[in-house]
Amino acid sequence: MWKKRKPAIQIKSRDQLAVMREAGLVVGRTLQRLSEAVKPGITTAELDAIAEESIRSEGATPSFKGYQGFPASICTSVNEEIVHGIPSSTKVLAEGDIISIDCGAIVDGWHGDSAVTVPVGEISSELQRLIEVCEESMWRGLAAGRAGGRLSDIGHAVETYVRGQGPYGIVEEYVGHGIGTQMHMDPAVPNYGEAGHGPDLVPGMCFAVEPMINLGTPETVLLGDDWTVITGDGRRSAHFEHTFAVTEDGPWVLTALDGGRGAGRD
Ligand code: MG
Ligand code: MG
Repeated sequence: MWKKRKPAIQIKSRDQLAVMREAGLVVGRTLQRLSEAVKPGITTAELDAIAEESIRSEGATPSFKGYQGFPASICTSVNEEIVHGIPSSTKVLAEGDIISIDCGAIVDGWHGDSAVTVPVGEISSELQRLIEVCEESMWRGLAAGRAGGRLSDIGHAVETYVRGQGPYGIVEEYVGHGIGTQMHMDPAVPNYGEAGHGPDLVPGMCFAVEPMINLGTPETVLLGDDWTVITGDGRRSAHFEHTFAVTEDGPWVLTALDGGRGAGRD
């Protein structure tokens, strides 16, 4: 008999999660180095060089490089760029900018994927607040990734938090994802929706939670380079991402250096 197929979600063993943790730590340490390197006058190509050196020096492989033809080891998305900005030697960071740095690494075939948004020098209080709201919404989503819950609990937690903070735009065209032996796997993990829908969350599942929050409307535009996604209204956007595993003890944030105690792991 033909049987209707549900999207298969890869379940990792304890040993496989340990390798994903190694990949996650490479990403976490690399993003820490990059955050410290961000300053007015540095180019996004210089940041990319630091990232590639950091990842390879730990014996890992940059997962973005060559992914569907992407030319660099990180995505660098400045100001109105939301995600997938391409590092460039002509893109010079300036005081007051904000930059999203998205990084992925592979260890023994297992992936980690994480992003942070970092201020360049002094930024306005409005932008500082945007960054804080975006990061906290990610943590709310991670905290909702508990065994016994449902997949849509994650997006619901992100959306509920953001809606309570002001008239921010939650990007809908780009979403989080399953992750494991590939960077992008089933299922999609939206940053919005009702709770209590979708697959049951089971220990060993891994997901990347990555809210993209705009100061203005949620609309997006894809630039002619076929990579860079910008806001439709030209206002600025923030992006945070962590990879986590569902465990019996709560979410284990594989790309957080402390394992994500902020997400309430017991
Ligand atoms: Mg990413
Ligand atoms: Mg991702």
